[in-house]
Amino acid sequence: MTLDGKVALVTGGSRGIGAATAVRLAEDGADVVLTYVANADRAGEIVDRVKALGRRALAVAADHADSASVTAAVDAAVAEFGRLDILVNNAGIGYVAPFAETGLAEVGRVLTANVHGVFAVTQAAAAHLGEGGRVITIGSCVSDRVPGPGMVLYAVSKSALTGFTKALARELAPRGVTVNLVHPGPIDTDMNPADGPYAADQAAMTALGRYGRPDEVAATVAFLASSASSYVTAATVSVDGGHAA
Ligand code: NDP
Repeated sequence: MTLDGKVALVTGGSRGIGAATAVRLAEDGADVVLTYVANADRAGEIVDRVKALGRRALAVAADHADSASVTAAVDAAVAEFGRLDILVNNAGIGYVAPFAETGLAEVGRVLTANVHGVFAVTQAAAAHLGEGGRVITIGSCVSDRVPGPGMVLYAVSKSALTGFTKALARELAPRGVTVNLVHPGPIDTDMNPADGPYAADQAAMTALGRYGRPDEVAATVAFLASSASSYVTAATVSVDGGHAA
C-alpha cells in the first residue's frame, strides 16, 4: 500500500468525485476524514466503506460558506488521527446561467464555495502538512476549454484555482509539500449526471466520446497523493477524456 500511515482529508467526500476519492485513498492505505454539508447519511455510507477496507474514517460537517466549520474540520481530523498528510480540495458547486443574468449575490455564493472555501481549508490544513505532504485541488476542464454559453461565473471560480495552485506550490515547496490541480471533464455525478439534458453534447466534446467515472478522477488523485508523484508540483493534470483537445 502506497499510502500506509498517511491521513487524508477529502472535502465534499459524501458524494461523487469526493466519495470515490475517499474510498480510493483508503484502498491505497490512508485513513480518511471526509467533509459534507447536508448529506450526513451519504457521508456515513462512505465512512462505512472506508472502515470495511480496514482503515480509520471520520465524517465532519463543514460548509465552505462557514469558515469556522472548515477550520473545525481540519482540527477534528488532526485531533482524531494525530496528523494530516494529504488534503484533497474537492468540494464545490456548479453554476450555469447567462452572464447578463448572473447576479452579484450569485457571484459571492459561487466564489465562496469554489474559491474562498478552498483558501480557508488549505490555510488551516497547510499548518499541519510536513515533508511529503500533498495538496490536490479539483478544478475543471472549463479552465481549458469552455464548452458553451452560461459558464462565465463557474469558469471564473475554477480558473482561480490555477493561480492558487502555482503560487501555493512556490510557498510550500521548501517544506516538502507538493501542490497540484486536477481538471476533470464531464464526470457522471449528481452535479453533472450522464443522463442529464446536456450530457450528450458534453460527451461528444471529448475525444473519447463518453462521460468519465468518479473513480477515473480518483485514480489520478491517488497518484498525486502518492510518493510516485514526488517531482510533480504546480502541475495541472487533465482527466477529461480529451475535452481540451
Ligand atoms: P457533487 O455535487 O456530486 O458533490 C459535491 C460534494 O461537495 C458533496 O459532498 C457536497 O456535500 C459538497 N459540497 C457542496 N457544497 C458545499 C459547500 N458549500 N461547502 C462544502 N462542501 C460542499 O459534485 P461532483 O462530485 O460532481 O464535483 C466534485 C468537484 O469536481 C467539484 O469541485 C466540481 O466543481 C468538480 N468538477 C465536477 C465535474 C463533473 O462533471 N461532475 C467536472 C469538473 C469539475 P453534500 O453531499 O453534503 O451536499
